[in-house]
Amino acid sequence: MNTSIADNIARVRAQMAAACQSAGRAPGSVRLLAVSKTWSADAVRTAHAEGQTDFGENYIQEAVDKITALRDLPLVWHCIGPIQSNKTRLVAEHFDWVHSIDRLKIAQRLSEQRPAHRPPLQVCIQVNVDGGETKSGVSPQDLPALAQAVAALPRLQLRGLMTIPEPAETDAQMRAVHRQAKDLFAQLRAQGLPLDTLSMGMSADMAAAIAEGSTMVRVGTAIFGKR
Ligand SMILES: *Cc1c(COP(=O)(O)O)cnc(C)c1O
Repeated sequence: MNTSIADNIARVRAQMAAACQSAGRAPGSVRLLAVSKTWSADAVRTAHAEGQTDFGENYIQEAVDKITALRDLPLVWHCIGPIQSNKTRLVAEHFDWVHSIDRLKIAQRLSEQRPAHRPPLQVCIQVNVDGGETKSGVSPQDLPALAQAVAALPRLQLRGLMTIPEPAETDAQMRAVHRQAKDLFAQLRAQGLPLDTLSMGMSADMAAAIAEGSTMVRVGTAIFGKR
């Protein structure tokens, strides 16, 4: 991609605004998470200069190095990748959000290891709506029990759901996955969980996800370029 990070962010914001408008949603109702995995701390600095504050990372050690190097900026860091047990302490100490909770054991460790001087870790449960075998995420069947258990952990605050649809052949198929995620989200809210975050939509399916109620889109390639 030849365009600059600044141009890309402006374009993504305009696309988000247009998608909100055609869905009849308020322009500020969707938050942009810039996925900076594999990109340098300098690239994050450039994005921050354009007013971007939320950044998503997949690889824990790489992320911790970046978070440490960028301590001088008021950034919000989101872990969006799979978390192994031996990495929970780093995640609990360095991140603000985790989108990829899919097992109670990991959530319990994060809650135990969240430092007392930091606010509760903000978390979403990753749900595997379309049954894709290659990715993580809890099944829709197991979601309600996991959500209640995570919501009860003292040092975590359950905010919502995250989903990664399989690449779909048609727009309608993709939207069906988004809609199922939205329905699961609504069911949990109806059970009394005060959720406000539906993390869905990436560079390729942002508009469809916004049409189906996403409140946070995770965009890497369209901002930083091809990895
Ligand atoms: C890499 C990644 C993204 C960003 O994907 P792009 O196609 O580069 O926008 C979003 N969500 C998750 C979970 C990712 O791992």
